[in-house]
Amino acid sequence: MSYKNFPMVPRVIFGRGSFNQLNDILAPKRLSIHAPFIYLIDDVFKNKSWLTSRIKLSYDDKIIYISSKEEPKTSQVDALVEDIILETKERPSGIIGIGGGTLLDLAKAVAIMLTNKGESKDYQGWDLVKNKAIYHVGIPTISGTGSEVSRTTVLTGPEKKLGINSDFTPFDQVILDSELTKDVPKQQWFYTGMDCYIHCIESLNGTYLNTFSETYGNMALQLCKEIFLEDKLSKTEAQEKLMMASWHGGMSIVYSQVGVAHAMSYGLSYLLGTKHGIGNCIVFNHLEAYYPEGVSLFKKMMHKHDIELPKGLCANLNDEQFDTMINIALSLEPLWENALGTHWQDIMTPEKLKALYRKM
Ligand code: NAD
Ligand code: ZN
Repeated sequence: MSYKNFPMVPRVIFGRGSFNQLNDILAPKRLSIHAPFIYLIDDVFKNKSWLTSRIKLSYDDKIIYISSKEEPKTSQVDALVEDIILETKERPSGIIGIGGGTLLDLAKAVAIMLTNKGESKDYQGWDLVKNKAIYHVGIPTISGTGSEVSRTTVLTGPEKKLGINSDFTPFDQVILDSELTKDVPKQQWFYTGMDCYIHCIESLNGTYLNTFSETYGNMALQLCKEIFLEDKLSKTEAQEKLMMASWHGGMSIVYSQVGVAHAMSYGLSYLLGTKHGIGNCIVFNHLEAYYPEGVSLFKKMMHKHDIELPKGLCANLNDEQFDTMINIALSLEPLWENALGTHWQDIMTPEKLKALYRKM
């Protein structure tokens, strides 16, 4: 048996107000006055000077505001990379992603594609990246996806929704400043927070589980219970704990895998554009057969926070659309193998998946 040897984020700062250290962290990484830092920032911060005024732009440094209405696409990554190449005299000194999973994934993908030939769709898969990415920094502003620690960047391409999973994907530096999450709207807080909770449940109940994943998963699960089911945390404590839950949940799946909810949610997202957090919730709500305890707690959390999930997403789909969704979901073999074991194909048939999707 050969064990995976995977990379971790080599540098991280944690603390309220630590965003102020960004300029000092970047200064020694500048390669030349013609090699700018490019900031990819969620456009929700466009007129939020409490955040943007703290970024010191020098020489040709540039902020690009990006909408996170839709999840990252391979074509979007390719267009960004082309623009950056056309507009900079030298290869940038670094890419800094500021936002949720959408912006973090875009930053990782752009950093990779600035040093690798071809189109980003060619790298969707496992270990296809040839060259080291340029220096990239991740600064989450909403907690839950674990993208800040993960070895993947999830992209929707022309044929599939699949990550660029590689040793070059993880950030070189992460800044965890929970103050940046203070204005996240409640529903979105819940959906992205539940992404973390579902990472824990899928990792802890998977066949790939090992002690490394289990310890991180248990820690994150415990934090999620405190945050989403109890009332004893202050706002600040809850923000800090969710930020760490996201980190640990992400660490847990690095060395295991996600499962049924993620596979099915990818199908929804590919066909209908349903975003990751809410899509996971919509699916997970119907998975009591696979994760009985996890789903029961999830329902308690929804109730406590007055969350109403959209219904009837799949009500008017035709057979061809169902097939597309089912094919995308079933193509994610490691997720099914983790969830249901090596004989997963005997357990999860296209018919069963269709029946599940019909409920959503
Ligand atoms: P997101 O980045 O799509 O953002 C969700 C919403 O929250 C957006 O409207 C955004 O503008 C808003 N928002 C973010 N920060 C805010 C703040 N501080 N104040 C107010 N509004 C704020 O959401 P997400 O759930 O973090 O990310 C989802 C994406 O992450 C998906 O594309 C998914 O595929 C990806 N993902 C990646 C990994 C990975 O390991 N790479 C893991 C899980 C999910
Ligand atoms: Zn997820």
